[in-house]
Amino acid sequence: MIPVAKPILDEREVEAVRRVILSGWVTQGPEVAAFEREFAELVGAPHACALSNCTTALHLALRAVDIGPGDEVITVSHSFIATANAIRYCGGVPVFVDIEADGFNIDPDLIEGAITRRTKAILCVHQLGMPCDLRQIVEIGKRYSIPVIEDAACATGSEILWNGQWEKIGKPHGDIACFSFHPRKVVTTGDGGMLTTANPEYDRKFKLWRQHGMSVPDTVRHGSSQVIYESYPEIGYNYRMTDMQAAVGREQLKRLPEIVARRRQLADLYTKHLRDIPGLETPLEPSWGRSNWQSYCVRLPHWVGQRSVMQALLDRGVSTRRGVMNIHLEDAYAAPDTHRSGTSLQQSVAAQNGTVILPLYAQMTDAELLAVVDTLRECLDASNIRAAE
Ligand SMILES: *Cc1c(COP(=O)(O)O)cnc(C)c1O
Repeated sequence: MIPVAKPILDEREVEAVRRVILSGWVTQGPEVAAFEREFAELVGAPHACALSNCTTALHLALRAVDIGPGDEVITVSHSFIATANAIRYCGGVPVFVDIEADGFNIDPDLIEGAITRRTKAILCVHQLGMPCDLRQIVEIGKRYSIPVIEDAACATGSEILWNGQWEKIGKPHGDIACFSFHPRKVVTTGDGGMLTTANPEYDRKFKLWRQHGMSVPDTVRHGSSQVIYESYPEIGYNYRMTDMQAAVGREQLKRLPEIVARRRQLADLYTKHLRDIPGLETPLEPSWGRSNWQSYCVRLPHWVGQRSVMQALLDRGVSTRRGVMNIHLEDAYAAPDTHRSGTSLQQSVAAQNGTVILPLYAQMTDAELLAVVDTLRECLDASNIRAAE
């Protein structure tokens, strides 16, 4: 069976966790601090704050820009549900804007039409690792004085061309970027998240809120020769990352350049071999973006059924996933007060129902990839899946 994704973990991560366990300091401490420094340096951000996952990162980012009851946040329905859930944790209303016809990211030309007096932020997503059109989005944010938050859950190691330079996603182009280290992403800490920003006040708040709103972190109290009483000036959460997770993350960051380089090679190979299949559309990378190819998502010929193709592939030992979901179609978003549609969501629905994510992981061999290509060809040719469903 060829899996759709597979994290790279070996003795290096085991050794890192072993070292932390035997040190006696196992939650947010020196390893988390080191992971934050290394991540900030990697992406070129002045501040980084590690958290329990990207959903909590999104929550704190939205709280930092003061999203409250009734505030509208422009985002996409074509994303993982956590993107919109985080807005609702703050009492905000997700306003869904459609994606581009030839990609899986927000269509920047549709954003302005969805802005109202209640719009308080834009939460854009670098979907599947492909950078969205940040330049245009940041421009709109500036023009309307609306902060831009990046859901960069999938985009560790992705790059964008910015003033003639290739820069990492997470270098503060928008106001705050949120990352995930779930095993489905390109680097993992089991679960984990990171916030990057250029704003020291946001960073101070993130570090306060992630630890119950406690004025003095454990690391400071532990190292102090004076007795310190902590206080709780604001309500906070327990959104900490453990030192064991951070130690794994530091090993994963060392592997990142190699992982992204291999993923980019594999994506090129897919595109080269899939391009000539009638009706199949391979994903496009804009001239100003470099994807980490967290996922390689193809649009199926319109005459085949998504589920039948996926089942035929599974029957032949190839695991796939349907393309990105549509949040507005889930029951949790059925009630009218849960969201607003800022535009038609026609492209979002078409992408959910007409795409398939193919296997891609850094350890994948060329032979495995070519086997997936052959199997997909065979499945698309099989007459039983034509016009099924
Ligand atoms: C994975 C993902 C998240 C959630 O990340 P967690 O770390 O699992 O909380 C949020 N947004 C997008 C776009 C994602 O792909």
